[in-house]
Amino acid sequence: MAISRAVSLGTAVLALLPMLWTSGCSKAGESAVSAAEDGGPQSISVFAMDTYMQLTAYDGQKSAALSQAKDEVERLEKLWSVTDEGSEIYRLDHSGGEPAEISDETAELIAFGMELNELTGGAFDISLYPVLSEWGFTNGDYKIPSEERLSELLKNVDSSRIELSGNAAVLPDGMSIDLGALGKGETGDRITEIFRANGVSSALLDLGGNIQVIGSKPDGSPWKIGIKSPWGEGSVAKLEVRDCCVITSGGYERFFEGGDGEIYWHILDPKTGYPAKNGILSATVIGKSGRLCDGLSTSLFVLGEEGAKKLWRERGDFDMILITEDGRLIMTEGIAGEVSLYEEFSGLETEVMSRD
Ligand code: ADP
Ligand code: MG
Repeated sequence: MAISRAVSLGTAVLALLPMLWTSGCSKAGESAVSAAEDGGPQSISVFAMDTYMQLTAYDGQKSAALSQAKDEVERLEKLWSVTDEGSEIYRLDHSGGEPAEISDETAELIAFGMELNELTGGAFDISLYPVLSEWGFTNGDYKIPSEERLSELLKNVDSSRIELSGNAAVLPDGMSIDLGALGKGETGDRITEIFRANGVSSALLDLGGNIQVIGSKPDGSPWKIGIKSPWGEGSVAKLEVRDCCVITSGGYERFFEGGDGEIYWHILDPKTGYPAKNGILSATVIGKSGRLCDGLSTSLFVLGEEGAKKLWRERGDFDMILITEDGRLIMTEGIAGEVSLYEEFSGLETEVMSRD
């Protein structure tokens, strides 16, 4: 289908594309605080979890909220990094099948990942890490693995085999996990708590395309979030929200061209070990819990249209916007009234799903 690629963003639209932030962002490991005139918003940019994060508070104890949020992001990164030898996940991944001690918060997030694995019939799996690494998605050194290698690695992929008991976790020997598919959403939830505790009632958190907002804009109007086009630059639609998370997983976010004309992206189907190509180009989940939205956006992308619709019907705790390969935009009834297509995409076929 023909869809124009160039979209200009309305000035009122916070499309929150990474490019809006990167210019003002610091280098890895650094952060910068910018303060507007008295009473204005305050922002901080942090590079952590492989992501440029931009946090903006509009009221309350802004400086305290931002500095506590930065400390928390850095603490969580140390706790859950797969590469930092001091992290709990590193220790667990190198425990050789022996029990490893982990904190309550790590145990809880692993348990949540396991719940999602069950809920999605295995489409979401935190133990995919060695397969993602084989493809080079963890370090950018991309290659197409052989089928033999993939089936070998897939033998150790099955997060339902993780044993969790209080603060002890046992991974079957050969298994490694990564909480990356949930970590940013969870981090957004923690920042939201910190902001609220500091009296912030209007804030925008952009964690590399994971958007979490507190309250409304300072003038009381809803936040306007752009749903990125999976076909190129710009946004397909504008979404107006208050107090919620808008988290998207798309094949366009990280991918390589295989030399065989095929595009290989970073969201894999745990059943095959190959990039999930089930008809969806991007899946956006809208809801109250960042970690749920984060995990579900990846899950829906893997499940494909039918699986995603089925899961939405079974649950009452999220809304979704799916953009399909054949050029349709599917949205659920709870959010449909808040979505408007940009003119350049007004030709997209839209479909509203209702529960009955
Ligand atoms: P982001 O990289 O912005 O977090 P996503 O939310 O779409 O993007 O999460 C994708 C990440 O999750 C991948 O980079 C990868 O580390 C991991 N991942 C890929 N496929 C799966 C899957 N089927 N289940 C769980 N995690 C996955
Ligand atoms: Mg995700």
